[in-house]
Amino acid sequence: MPKRRESTYVWITWVNRLISGEDYCEWSSWFKSNYEGNSYRKEPSSFDAANWHIEHTTLLQNTRQRFENEGYKVFIQNQNAIKLQGQTAMLSGIPDLIGISGNSAVVVDVKTGQPSPSHSTQVLMYMYALEKYDSRFRDVSLEGMVVYADHDLRIPDGSVTEKFISNLGGLMRRLSADVPAVKVPSEQECSFCPITKDDCAEKFFLQEDSDKKDKFSTTDDF
Ligand code: SF4
Repeated sequence: MPKRRESTYVWITWVNRLISGEDYCEWSSWFKSNYEGNSYRKEPSSFDAANWHIEHTTLLQNTRQRFENEGYKVFIQNQNAIKLQGQTAMLSGIPDLIGISGNSAVVVDVKTGQPSPSHSTQVLMYMYALEKYDSRFRDVSLEGMVVYADHDLRIPDGSVTEKFISNLGGLMRRLSADVPAVKVPSEQECSFCPITKDDCAEKFFLQEDSDKKDKFSTTDDF
């Protein structure tokens, strides 16, 4: 039986795709944010975690060296934990790398896969939260960066707009509400979702819905 958390706890990586508009099922994040992760069953992952860790660590260490060579004081991973408590929920995250040099700072996330809009959204959330959570980032120029294997994506200081904060605030309030957030089952999202049918009866299964998928309607209009 899923056990309710004492208060709503949201990881930035649970919501970046909702903010970027790549995912629409808010219920998945609502459930994870309000129920203890060890109290419900999860789908087994086909993700190659070992390989990912090796590639990610290599790219992160190279990035660390690059920023140190440029004169930054560099902090990585668990040195960068953010826990920002709002009135309705806690927003939490761990940027891969933070570099500080004089009045300039940069928060970096390292990505080994294909570029995606949610990568920028994730870094924007770090930029938003860092300024509020850690006084070191209040009066400095804070830039964001997504580092890929073959290029960087820079996110300039000042990119955290009022509109972005309003969207994030609205999502956080929906995730902390007693009324469950909206479920949007689809083949695309359900196949990557860790929630099982034990807790989400609406979960879309390709096998069960294969009749629908195989029987296409046809038209002569084009
Ligand atoms: S299984 Fe599908 S409908 Fe259920 S929470 Fe996950 S994405 Fe949403």
